[in-house]
Amino acid sequence: MEQMIQLNHGQKAIPAIGLGVFKVEDGGAVIDAVVEAIRQGYRHIDTAAVYRNEEGVGVGLRKGMEIANISRDDLFITSKLWNADQGYDSAIAAYEASLERLGLERLDLYLIHWPVEDKMIESWCALETLYREGRVGAVGVSNFQIHHLETLAANSDLVPTVNQVERHPLLRQSELATYMNEHGIVPVTWAPLMQGGLFEEPTLLEVAKEVKRSVAQVILRWHLQTGWVIIPKSIKPHRIEENFSLYDFELSEEQMNRIDTLDRHKRVGLDPDDFDF
Ligand code: NAD
Repeated sequence: MEQMIQLNHGQKAIPAIGLGVFKVEDGGAVIDAVVEAIRQGYRHIDTAAVYRNEEGVGVGLRKGMEIANISRDDLFITSKLWNADQGYDSAIAAYEASLERLGLERLDLYLIHWPVEDKMIESWCALETLYREGRVGAVGVSNFQIHHLETLAANSDLVPTVNQVERHPLLRQSELATYMNEHGIVPVTWAPLMQGGLFEEPTLLEVAKEVKRSVAQVILRWHLQTGWVIIPKSIKPHRIEENFSLYDFELSEEQMNRIDTLDRHKRVGLDPDDFDF
């Protein structure tokens, strides 16, 4: 049974494994990936307005629900407010536009994609309105550092349900995770596989051999055992399956500790304190 993680607001728990669709083309590619994931048991899909594939995701969701004989309530769908749309009115309009493209009446989770310093409070107020009016299941943030979360907390009583940030064995994010844990914010990792950059890493290869699993599965299991939600991206059916087959093995404390030592504070994405888009 897949693990579900309770959020600090909203009615639905978030499934610990989701499918990420960053850089997946709209149309056939994203439709097929979403259908395949739902067919294999995924119930959580992560997209964003800026991925420009929300329409295809919507088609995939409807096809997937039919094939798997499940309802909209069984799914957990996330999208994100792009930087250019930050601000109060523009954030509400952007949310409506995402719903329109997805063909959904509401999202289960809507995130501020990046902490745009002079707009994020207004944007958060807009998300708070959407939540209080019952137009979105839950709201959260992405790419927020501790100081961004502190700024939000100083300006709003609504605590984000999740903070979705880059995280993998070379970027453990332990300080941020401790802060989020203390404040009831669920950690979600993007680039959980470091965008494919870790498959030759000797320690991970060694652990993979010990547990007779792939390196991808070892990394994803390490995330789950440290309490992080994962949204690995793949469009290949066998990898979509591999990335979901994580509940029939476990890493020992010693194996977890060995992976923990790989932390180098190394990012593959941009630094949330230094981005220009
Ligand atoms: P990822 O770490 O999920 O890596 C994806 C890459 O790994 C792809 O090239 C894929 O082909 C490969 N891969 C996947 N499974 C594999 C397997 N089992 N074996 C071998 N190779 C495998 O990177 P990502 O796509 O950047 O991150 C995941 C998701 O996070 C995205 O799709 C998106 O939904 C989200 N995301 C969010 C942000 C943000 O700013 N909030 C930024 C980037 C990504």
